[in-house]
Amino acid sequence: MLQHNRHNTNLIMSFITALALVVSISTSAYADTLNPYKIKAAIKRAYDDYKNIKEGANADYIPALAKVDPKIFGIALITTDGKVYTAGDLKTEVSIQSISKVFTMAKVMEESSPEAIYNNMGVDATGQVFNSIVAIEQYKGSEMNAMVNPGAITATSMVKGSSYDDIWNKILTYYGDFAGRKLTVLEDIYKSEAATNQRNQALAMLMFAYGHIKGDPLQATDIYTKQCSVGVNTQDLAAMAATLANGGKNPLTGKQVISTKHVPEILAVMATAGLYDDSGKWLYQTGLPAKSGVGGGLIAVSPGKFGIAVISPPLDEAGNSVRAQKAIADISNALGGNPYAVKPR
Ligand code: GLU
Repeated sequence: MLQHNRHNTNLIMSFITALALVVSISTSAYADTLNPYKIKAAIKRAYDDYKNIKEGANADYIPALAKVDPKIFGIALITTDGKVYTAGDLKTEVSIQSISKVFTMAKVMEESSPEAIYNNMGVDATGQVFNSIVAIEQYKGSEMNAMVNPGAITATSMVKGSSYDDIWNKILTYYGDFAGRKLTVLEDIYKSEAATNQRNQALAMLMFAYGHIKGDPLQATDIYTKQCSVGVNTQDLAAMAATLANGGKNPLTGKQVISTKHVPEILAVMATAGLYDDSGKWLYQTGLPAKSGVGGGLIAVSPGKFGIAVISPPLDEAGNSVRAQKAIADISNALGGNPYAVKPR
């Protein structure tokens, strides 16, 4: 009888503990941070706060980018359960540019392995600009990462395929799986960059000379240039980020795009080198793995919670969208998006 009572008491205690846990989770972490009203309010506030700021300038080293409307400003946040929240311009496509580097690296991890990335170009910050020749020379093309141009062009060269078209179609289809729709190239951007990408060709030649690129370096550069010219709107970018936030499964389509086990490595490289020379400052302010592109896009990932993206072409000195950084930092901080910010038990 005594035994029986103790058993019952234990059962009741476990039930109460479990109930308390459920209540505390639903009232603190989730309900407190991912409340739809809070998300909508945070997005609206950021949009209103930053829509009229005039800082920054479009990238112009790729001539076609200088002609993009600097007023484009769109915000999209997609939660890991597939809810979409937006403000501003969601239709206009800009070129994905460097944000593509994340997804080509992901393709190589999926086809080969994360070690292939680690062993070939490395996973360390270079402390140099994104198209630095010095960064290659310093360690003969090692000890860098797939977010800077030499590492990114090398990653593109590692995508498997029997021909140019085969490799290209794989890359484009893969990006589309992350975005949740079929994507296409913005031909004017591609032509403009292809006509002016001699420096990237030189970087690829050096990576070939040091044995990192095994195939044709100029073909790799051309495919890389094309991947940078893929057109994306704000919601596409948010879906790409949300797929990473959701362990590699696109929360809009339900498709597992990349193995869940590779996502932490992708996010680690984004955290290390996603915002050029300001990657440390960004991480300090937000804690979010992110990637920017000179087309004005910025994606950021709050693991397990949401992916967020902003498009706004004017860039700061480091090459990152001015409005996008401000808007994403404010929204994420309002929603408790920083994965390093935990409450003590
Ligand atoms: N296509 C650009 C380049 O290679 C990408 C640069 C960027 O977005 O950082 O110069």
